[in-house]
Amino acid sequence: MTERRNLAPDLAVVRLQPEIPYAFTPGQYCTIGLDGVERPYSIVSSPHEAFLELFLELVQHGELTPKLWTLRVGDAVSLRPRPKGVFTLEEKFPVHLMVATVTGIAPFVSMLRHVIHRGERRFRFVVLQGASYQDEFAYREELEDASARHPELLVYIPTVSRPGEERNRGWAGATGRVSTPWSRSTSSASGPQGPRRLTPAAIRA
Ligand SMILES: Cc1cc2nc3c(=O)[nH]c(=O)nc-3n(C[C@H](O)[C@H](O)[C@H](O)COP(=O)(O)OP(=O)(O)OC[C@H]3O[C@@H](n4cnc5c(N)ncnc54)[C@H](O)[C@@H]3O)c2cc1C
Repeated sequence: MTERRNLAPDLAVVRLQPEIPYAFTPGQYCTIGLDGVERPYSIVSSPHEAFLELFLELVQHGELTPKLWTLRVGDAVSLRPRPKGVFTLEEKFPVHLMVATVTGIAPFVSMLRHVIHRGERRFRFVVLQGASYQDEFAYREELEDASARHPELLVYIPTVSRPGEERNRGWAGATGRVSTPWSRSTSSASGPQGPRRLTPAAIRA
């Protein structure tokens, strides 16, 4: 582990330096482990970046995440040699509605970093992200900045579900659960149980 950024007591972004070349497609997940316990984690970084970035949530009494929380920069985890997953960008569609709760933003950030790095401008992404608290949006600054630089490419809307709580003081953005207005019209979603595709009802913009 080469970097660790703590957002909240139960949320951290970490960067890993694989000891072997590690090729993947944005949207895929890697499998890491400690003491023989392994779990899959969506990759946040994009293939052009020289590290593997993950966005982790601590699950109290979980088997692996409490162990991960003891790690410091310089410590090692196991990494299965190959990534997995088919939740990758379907490039035949020009418009993508991406819906995520907290750490579920991971595969979408990977896809967006990749598209922006390649200079692709034929897509349009609408990214909705829900969280209880504003400090859980680990990539808000990056996504708002990308949206400001490429307004035709990306719209990013974070929404907090507990606007009245002290931890959300000063929040001026959207409020409510991310699923409420969009539950019948999403194409793909990503949350604690990993990413998944939903019914293809939706976006024909
Ligand atoms: C494809 C895929 C991608 C994933 N990507 C990420 C990711 O980017 N970041 C991330 O933090 N996790 C991600 N996960 C979840 C991750 O693999 C683990 O399940 C999670 O970290 C819990 O592991 P654990 O060993 O600590 O808990 P476990 O011992 O496996 O679980 C203990 C209990 O907690 C429940 N549980 C698991 N996760 C949560 C949760 N988030 N909130 C509440 N209860 C939970 C389990 O159902 C179980 O009942 C992903 C899962 C999949 C399938």
